[in-house]
Amino acid sequence: MAKSFNILLLPGDGIGPEVMAEVRRVARWLAAQGIARFEMEEAPVGGASIDADGVPVSDATLELAKAADAVLLGAVGGPKWAEVDYAIRPEAGLLRLRKELELFANLRPAQCFPALVGASSLKPDLVAGLDILFVRELVGGVYFGEPRGIETLEDGTRRGVNTQVYTTAEIRRVAALAFELARQRSGRVCSAEKSNVMESGLLWREEVTALHAEGYRDVELSHMLADNCAMQLVRAPKQFDVILTDNLFGDLLSDEAAMLTGSLGMLPSASLGAEVDGHRAALYEPIHGSAPDIAGRGIANPIAAILSFAMALRYSFGLDGAADMIESAVAQVLDGGLRTADIMADGMAKVSTDVMGEAIVGALAKRAA
Ligand code: NAD
Repeated sequence: MAKSFNILLLPGDGIGPEVMAEVRRVARWLAAQGIARFEMEEAPVGGASIDADGVPVSDATLELAKAADAVLLGAVGGPKWAEVDYAIRPEAGLLRLRKELELFANLRPAQCFPALVGASSLKPDLVAGLDILFVRELVGGVYFGEPRGIETLEDGTRRGVNTQVYTTAEIRRVAALAFELARQRSGRVCSAEKSNVMESGLLWREEVTALHAEGYRDVELSHMLADNCAMQLVRAPKQFDVILTDNLFGDLLSDEAAMLTGSLGMLPSASLGAEVDGHRAALYEPIHGSAPDIAGRGIANPIAAILSFAMALRYSFGLDGAADMIESAVAQVLDGGLRTADIMADGMAKVSTDVMGEAIVGALAKRAA
């Protein structure tokens, strides 16, 4: 009998519910094939949760998220909630989810589908076949370090403070995950920091090096200064396999790499916690936001959300075969010339969100036949 997985869907705001409907369509197809059973529960998050419960994520939703085998999120935010208090803005719901689930590793693939090579800002030969996996530390570093704040000095001028801080344990847990993921790929990790000017960067380099020597010598480890990494990503991006980096540099470098692959509407992500008793907290989401400018028009690209579901199949459910099938089906639909508006090009056929979802399920069905 097919294994059963418990998924919490958090469609959120704007185009979130539109792209999530297409994830449901793909999940229904997999279930109908007997590949797995999915128990899906849905809850509000972000603006939708502010409207329903007065907070961007409720305690009840957090409990559901902790109990789920995986959480799939659409997107949060929008102009409707622009004036709400900073502490309960829609994005605060997402931060609370990440923090409470202790999702310390953010995985972002930067892959270039052959049909979209022309959409990259780089020359086609630099990005054709690109396949990088970013592993970014997500709950530490300068975004969370103390002390922090803005103070007024005696002379009336002000001082803003943030603190970059990492401990051995924080570095090692994310580095271990990067090494393990590299073993499933081409076995190379490049660790990026600023050990030349930051003590926290020096500690990062030393701990990653020590962990590598202790248990991951089969993986090839290199180190690169983060500024050089930013340059290498646009000079010769295919040199990289897994890039391991901290919260701040990961934020910048993974956004830079995102643009190598074309559109925001194509890029999935996963945020993973520690494995405890065989269960790893995990949240999967497209990297794009709620796109208020196109919400409600049925034209959003659902591929980033569908590929995020594929990541859940791979990293939370161990269904690598099903994840591969979805990725191939997406590539096939793009090869066939279908495009949502964001990735439209001359000579292609422009389709809506649901037609793109249907086409991906159609390609899955054809492959299975
Ligand atoms: P955005 O990603 O929502 O949109 C940027 C541009 O990309 C827009 O023109 C949009 O139409 C387009 N776009 C994004 N996703 C698309 C898709 N799937 N298909 C087609 N086009 C797509 O970023 P923004 O405009 O800066 O932010 C809008 C709102 O989303 C804000 O409230 C912001 O805080 C929030 N946001 C949320 C998340 C998240 O939920 N993780 C991430 C980023 C931004």
